[in-house]
Amino acid sequence: MRNKEIAEQFYLIAQLLSLTDENPFKVRAYEKAAQVIESLPEPIEEISKDFQKLSSIPGVGKSIAEKVIEYLNTGRIQRLEELRSKFPEGIFEMLKIPGLGPKRVKLLFEKLGISNVDTLKEYAQKGMLKGLPGFGEKVEKNILEGIQMLSVSEQRLLLFDAIKVVEEILGELKNKDIINIDPCGSLRRKKETVGDIDILCCVKEGKEKQTIEKFTKLSMVKKVSACGETKGSIITHSNLQVDLRVVPKEVYGAALQYFTGSKQHNIHLREIANKKNLTISEYGVFKIGKKDKPICGETEQEVYEILGLQYIEPELREDRGEIELAQQNKLPKLIDIKDIKGDTHIHSHYSDGANSIKEISEYAYKLGYEWIIICDHSQSLKVAGGLEIKTLYKKIEEIKNLNKTSKVRILCGQEVDILSDGRLDYPDEVLKELDFVIAAIHTGFKQSEEQITERIMKAIDNKYVHSISHPTGRLLNKRSPYKVNISKVIEYAAKNGVMLEINAFPERLDLDDIHTKYAKEHKVLLSIGTDAHHISQMEYMILGVYVARRGWLEKENVINSFSYKELIKYLNKRR
Ligand SMILES: [Zn+2]
Ligand SMILES: [Zn+2]
Repeated sequence: MRNKEIAEQFYLIAQLLSLTDENPFKVRAYEKAAQVIESLPEPIEEISKDFQKLSSIPGVGKSIAEKVIEYLNTGRIQRLEELRSKFPEGIFEMLKIPGLGPKRVKLLFEKLGISNVDTLKEYAQKGMLKGLPGFGEKVEKNILEGIQMLSVSEQRLLLFDAIKVVEEILGELKNKDIINIDPCGSLRRKKETVGDIDILCCVKEGKEKQTIEKFTKLSMVKKVSACGETKGSIITHSNLQVDLRVVPKEVYGAALQYFTGSKQHNIHLREIANKKNLTISEYGVFKIGKKDKPICGETEQEVYEILGLQYIEPELREDRGEIELAQQNKLPKLIDIKDIKGDTHIHSHYSDGANSIKEISEYAYKLGYEWIIICDHSQSLKVAGGLEIKTLYKKIEEIKNLNKTSKVRILCGQEVDILSDGRLDYPDEVLKELDFVIAAIHTGFKQSEEQITERIMKAIDNKYVHSISHPTGRLLNKRSPYKVNISKVIEYAAKNGVMLEINAFPERLDLDDIHTKYAKEHKVLLSIGTDAHHISQMEYMILGVYVARRGWLEKENVINSFSYKELIKYLNKRR
C-alpha cells in the first residue's frame, strides 16, 4: 500500500506552496488531498486503475488524480519538481522539524538566509534567532527540541505502520512452500515504535533461494541491498529496511527466540543457560562443548522449558523481572483482545468524529462488543467541535432513544477539558448527568511540571471523573509529553479510585508500557480508549491491548473486560 508515500508528496507540495505566496486555498486543497489519501482504507495503486473512481473521491478531484497517476507511473510529480527547484535542498529537511512550520521556515530563509538544519541548529544554540519577529528564547528552545525529535523520528516507525507493512509482505509472500513465517524483533514484542523490520521463515527443502528472490521482487521494493542464499534485504518505497531470513525447521524456535530479543532478555537467558551447562543461540540449544548437534530448538517453548522457565510471551521479554517470575511459574496471564467487551473513548459527529452514534454502535456490534462509550469534546475546545451544554443534553436524549433498539449498550460520556487552573469544562450538575467522564489536557502544555501535575490531581478530586485520558499528552515522533510528574498522578489516582487511560491511537499509546505496569502495581484500573474519530479507527483497540500486555496487565486490571453489568456497577460506585 503506497497511500502514505503518496500523501507525503502532496504534503510537501502544500508546504512548498506556502513558502511561495500562493493562494492559501490551494495550499489547503493539497493538504486536504494528502489527508484523504493517507486515510484511505484501500491501496491507492488499486483505486488508480479506475481514473473515474480515483477522481471522484471527495477531496481528490481530477487535477490531484492526474498527479497520483503521474507519480505511480514515473516516480515523480512535475509540479513538485518545479517547486523543489525554487529552494535549496536543505529547506525540505527544515520543513520536517516538528512545530516549526512553513511560515517560520520562510522567514528564516528570507531574513537570515538559513537553508539547512545544521545552520539553523547553530543559530538557535547561539541564541541568534531572537531578532526575528516571533522568535523568542522559547521558540529557539523548541526548535532545538524539534531538531532532536527529527533525528529520532527518521529512524523509528510507529508500531501501527510497521504492522501494516508486515501484513502486506506476508500477504504477498505466503504460499505453500512456506511452513512458518513471523516478524521478530521489537515488532513482535509490540514496542511502540519499530526500527528495521526483521522477518523469519522456514520453507520446504530446496525452496530457500526461491523464497528470498520472491521477497526481493515484492511490489513495495525500491532497492535490493542483499539477495543471498538464505537472507534478503530490501529498502521499501517509504525508505524502510526489511530483512528476511530463512532458517532450518529444526531450529526455527531457537532462531525466533533469538531474533525476537530483547537484547537484555537474551543476555539474561544465556546466563541461565550457562549455569545449566548449556549454550543457546539462533542455531539451537547445545550442551557446552558439543557444538555439532542441537539438543532442541524447533519451538520457542522447548527453549524456555529446557532452561527451566515458563513460556514467556514476546511482549514481556524486556528483562523487567519476567525471567525471575517464569522461574517460579508465576507470570501474569496477559489480557487478550478476545477479553475486550467495549471501548471507552469514541468521538461521534457531535464533536469532531466522522460518524453518527448509530453508525458507531452498529460497527461496535460487528466487532463483537457488548458496550461502547461515546466521548466527545467539551465546550471550550472549539477547534474540535466541543459541545455546548444544550447540545450535550440533545446527545444524552439521542443515546437514550438509540438504546431502545441498539444491540450494544451505549453510554453517554464526554472527554472533558481540564482547564488551565484545574477546573473542569462543565459544572458538576452537568457532569452528573453523564455515564462516563474522562478528563483531559488539550491546552496549556507549556505550564510547569508542578502546575500540570496539580491540574490533573484537581481533576481526580472531582467525584464525577472516572478516568484521565492520554495522561502525558505525548505524540510519538511529534511532541514530547507535557511536563507532568506521572508517577505522582498514578499514586493519586490509586488513592482516589480513578482510572487512567491507555489511549490506543497509534501516535499516542499513552500511558506507555512502563507507566502502565507502574499503575498496575499501584492497583489502578486502566481504561483502553481508541479515541476513534472514524469507525475504522475503532480497530486501534489492538494497539491498546499490546500496551496493556507490555505493561503486564491481566484482564481484571482493565475495565474493557468488564461485562455491561459489571461496568455499570463499577461506575456507580465512584459517585
Ligand atoms: Zn483528547
Ligand atoms: Zn478524544
